[in-house]
Amino acid sequence: VSVTDRCDFRCVYCMPEHMSFLPKADVLSLEELDRLCSAFVRKGVNKLRLTGGEPLVRRDVMKLIRALGRHLDTGALKELTITTNGSQLARYASELVDCGVKRINVSVDTLDAEKFRAITRWGDLDKVLAGIEAALAAGLKIKIVALRGVNEHELPDLIAWAHGKGMDITLIETMPMGDVDADRTEQYLPLSLVRAELSKLYSLEPTDERTGGPARYVRVKETGGRLGFITPLSHNFCESCNRVRLTCTGTLYMCLGQEDAADLRAPLRASADDALLDAAIDEAIGRKPKGHDFVIDRRHNRPAVSRQMSLTGG
Ligand code: SAM
Ligand code: SF4
Repeated sequence: VSVTDRCDFRCVYCMPEHMSFLPKADVLSLEELDRLCSAFVRKGVNKLRLTGGEPLVRRDVMKLIRALGRHLDTGALKELTITTNGSQLARYASELVDCGVKRINVSVDTLDAEKFRAITRWGDLDKVLAGIEAALAAGLKIKIVALRGVNEHELPDLIAWAHGKGMDITLIETMPMGDVDADRTEQYLPLSLVRAELSKLYSLEPTDERTGGPARYVRVKETGGRLGFITPLSHNFCESCNRVRLTCTGTLYMCLGQEDAADLRAPLRASADDALLDAAIDEAIGRKPKGHDFVIDRRHNRPAVSRQMSLTGG
């Protein structure tokens, strides 16, 4: 669930520097987001991940997180979690724990402050690292999402750092989503190659461990930590995907790599009763496709879908 399309960073693989954002009137209120999420929970969704844009820059977002926490109390929801760039974590870490959040994903591509600034354009690495420390101190389990891009040679260091702090780390391939003022063929590196390189440094032991998402994990013998690979391009996992993505305007995408979507805002706003909404959700889920259409190579140098990743949040 993307709770906002806005962000305090402008990562080079995610957004152009001069990004145009949605008019506020199009964006669902926190109450509407709650009603929509609750409809999905009623239908059996037991894991919610809040994302963005940057979820923690949405005004009063903690009110939504606290409200959704009630579904954890009843047992209807098994996990409430967020994906964040970490810039606001120092402020919110303990409150997140208080709302029932146990595990979060923080996206950090590099531990080099200058490179971090170059990748995020506007980000301050020290703030993010302080946020991560605060989250660890508050007892959150953290998964670091290191995105393949310009950090290829730093991956062994990132792995050692994450595992040294007891965090999982997952690598993900760049996906061709939206125009970003950059050449995707330059950004894309198949993780099969990364894995082969890492195997020269580390003993990667296969495991069946899963955290419910698309990552496939190995255990790094030397560090004892878990390393995940998300490979939507080099090895797609569409057959086991049970995810859908909701934007902050109430648009439901049944696949990250397809244009097909369902508008849930109209049925949501049409009546205070949830019958129309429930019917729209059922109809949309029935259209979930078999798989995505992502390809990155010299002949396919255009985005597979025109929207940015920040619309659906990952
Ligand atoms: N702002 C938050 C963050 O950065 O974690 C949440 C939203 S962000 C869009 C979610 C994740 O998508 C981040 O881990 C980011 O690195 C990743 N991402 C953005 N654009 C991507 C792309 N084109 N391909 C693959 N991952 C992408
Ligand atoms: Fe913002 Fe996350 Fe996109 Fe970076 S990846 S610009 S932090 S939404």
